[in-house]
Amino acid sequence: MAKTTDVGVSADLSNQVALVTGASRGIGRTIAEALAACGAKVACVARNEERLQEVVESISSAGNVAQAWTCDVNDKDSIEKVVDRVAETWDRLDILVNNAGITQDTLLPRMSDEQWDDVVRTNLRSVFLFTRAATRHMMSQRYGRVINLSSVSGVVGNKGQSNYAATKAGIIGFTKSVALELAGRKVTANAVAPGFIETDMTAALGDALKDEAKKRIPCKRLGSSEDIAAAVVFLASSGAAYLTGQTLVVDGGMTLGP
Ligand code: NAP
Repeated sequence: MAKTTDVGVSADLSNQVALVTGASRGIGRTIAEALAACGAKVACVARNEERLQEVVESISSAGNVAQAWTCDVNDKDSIEKVVDRVAETWDRLDILVNNAGITQDTLLPRMSDEQWDDVVRTNLRSVFLFTRAATRHMMSQRYGRVINLSSVSGVVGNKGQSNYAATKAGIIGFTKSVALELAGRKVTANAVAPGFIETDMTAALGDALKDEAKKRIPCKRLGSSEDIAAAVVFLASSGAAYLTGQTLVVDGGMTLGP
């Protein structure tokens, strides 16, 4: 029976295994909690072990199942080990959510090689590495859902974010290509492109900028982690079986134009 999560979307993910990167806080944490509430066993991946344990405890105390897996998504060997061990521990891997991401914002003339490389490595190369490792299991199971966190910056661009926007646009092209390659094995790949969501990533932007952003958003509020997790739960649900290669823009209408 479909279970209703506190993000307002129902799905029955019993007997499924999910891996969520960047699950220690923000959007990733809410996604991990929502997938677990739908019955999936969730592998929570990030660097901060203490925060990951907090997430696992919160999921367990709600009567659901999760494990913490400490991993830097810049470390290729660690990624491959984590993916294979999660699939071995729980005997399968059904849902991969590539959510870990960073920003290092500055205008192009001031952007260093390191700022470019760090953002590309963390946001884009990791998505390739996790997806390649996870889809090996999904292909042999003949079932899988890959869900990648893009951004409206990757759809329409953003001043000061040429590195970040390049990775988030890259994720959209990557997702479409993976969708085409794997559709015949019942593995779908989709992206979610959030707008302005209240998390640590946007906390430093300050109230004045947030108020300005709210005025430009037709829904007249900033987004929440729950708004994004709802889209992810839908993409993981049985109802999304015929949806692949798409990008769901979840931005309160921000990119629709004036
Ligand atoms: P956040 O609050 O800053 O959290 C980022 C997460 O990524 C943390 O769990 C962090 O965990 C993990 N992470 C970062 N670098 C990592 C690394 N090298 N290895 C492993 N984990 C790493 O960010 P958020 O706002 O929730 O964003 C989540 C995703 O949504 C990102 O891909 C972001 O680009 C995208 N997004 C966010 C917004 C927004 O407005 N917030 C808008 C559009 C798109 P540790 O520090 O514990 O490693």
